[in-house]
Amino acid sequence: MIKLTIPGKDEILELEHLVLDFNGTLAFNGKLKPGVGEMLVGLSRQLRIHIVTAGTFGGVEREVQGIPCVLKVLEGTDQTARKGRYVEELGAEHTAAIGNGRNDRAMLKKARLGILVIQEEGAAVESILAADVVCRDINEALQLLQHPLRLTATLRT
Ligand SMILES: [Mg+2]
Repeated sequence: MIKLTIPGKDEILELEHLVLDFNGTLAFNGKLKPGVGEMLVGLSRQLRIHIVTAGTFGGVEREVQGIPCVLKVLEGTDQTARKGRYVEELGAEHTAAIGNGRNDRAMLKKARLGILVIQEEGAAVESILAADVVCRDINEALQLLQHPLRLTATLRT
């Protein structure tokens, strides 16, 4: 678990799950981005990692090999609702979510902590508005979770 207190809001976040979009967030052109695997292995000591994907590029299983995680390949068309429902089923109150696309907006909104990453593919404005924090890339987003005091500084009122 990662626990952080937000000064000025009298809020305590107790995060148990981390849900991540794959394409555009963890991966670029279907390939896991450099450094991401190692950081997720480290974070898996504190958070249960879930990787959600529509599997657009295929080969996701191979890319996430070695990362202790639940790989959730979402079938069907309404990816926005499916990702949102997945966060709800885990318990949105204890879940952080990271994504970049328009279809990540529901999970970013529902999650206790929603982090949007811009990266090479760019981010959907609706998803930016649904998030609590916006980061330039996935490495910075994962570093925020590794150093929760940085998050406290960003979110304090
Ligand atoms: Mg994406």
